[in-house]
Amino acid sequence: MGNVKTSHNGPRKKYTKAQFHRDRMQALGVITGVAIALVAVASYFFIIRPLLDPKTEETAGTPQTVTMQKGPAPSEAESVADTNDSSGQPAAVTEPAQTDPGLAGSPAETSVTSAKETEKTHKEAEGHKLEVKDGITYVDGIMIVNKTYSLPPTYAPGLDPEAEEAFNKMANDAWGQGLSLFICSGFRSYREQEMLYNGYAEQRGVEEADRVSSRAGHSEHQSGLCMDINTTDFSFANTKEAVWLANNCADYGFIIRFPLGKESITGYTYEPWHIRYVGLKAAKEIYEQDICLEEYLNVTSDYKNSKDQNGN
Ligand SMILES: [Zn+2]
Repeated sequence: MGNVKTSHNGPRKKYTKAQFHRDRMQALGVITGVAIALVAVASYFFIIRPLLDPKTEETAGTPQTVTMQKGPAPSEAESVADTNDSSGQPAAVTEPAQTDPGLAGSPAETSVTSAKETEKTHKEAEGHKLEVKDGITYVDGIMIVNKTYSLPPTYAPGLDPEAEEAFNKMANDAWGQGLSLFICSGFRSYREQEMLYNGYAEQRGVEEADRVSSRAGHSEHQSGLCMDINTTDFSFANTKEAVWLANNCADYGFIIRFPLGKESITGYTYEPWHIRYVGLKAAKEIYEQDICLEEYLNVTSDYKNSKDQNGN
């Protein structure tokens, strides 16, 4: 055993202090090198890479938002294009542009494109759900037809059965109180409206025609959801029927569509005879809050905001 030890210890004794020191420094150097390498690798993974590639976490949600936002636009355009193809009319050219208000209102959009879009969008239907289906705009499920939003020329549903039933019920109840309500004008087609508006425009000029009538495609009468009651003469406002209608139509799902004092918002002069079916919930809320449909849905009614390219 002793020999083994001596033979082992032997060579070490030949080392000089200087050699031993050098070896120790070399060993320290290797250890330090390895340590530095480990620190470098660790810092790359934990510090540098996250800094260089911050998208990994932050943008996880963004691509989804973008796809969701961009998704509906082309499909709307396509569905509108389909409608256009089937209609085969020059007016069809206007339809793709009409879907633009839809873009303005989609909630996902506001954050992403607000910088670019703000000037164009007027924040239409902000806080509400705006959808465009086959060229028809719905806000919170309510069809909106006014100076900003139009209907395709081919849309001709006739008088809406639900609205008609609601009217009949209302007229019956009014009759029970000695009042006579009847529909003086209900559904009106695109072409009928076109002739009506052109007549006004020729007689009174475009400015006046726009206050009292609608350009083709922009008349609510084409929706089949509204009706003029008894007469379109202003004398109607002073009748018992008009007073009863204003106070009770909400109980049947109707609103006085163009109320007194709201012309700057609805775009139309007061029409005590023109009622619009919006369903019970909306009608009661609109009546109780003393607001018009544009205020209720947070939309404009202005030809300037309409995306129709032919000015309709
Ligand atoms: Zn009317």
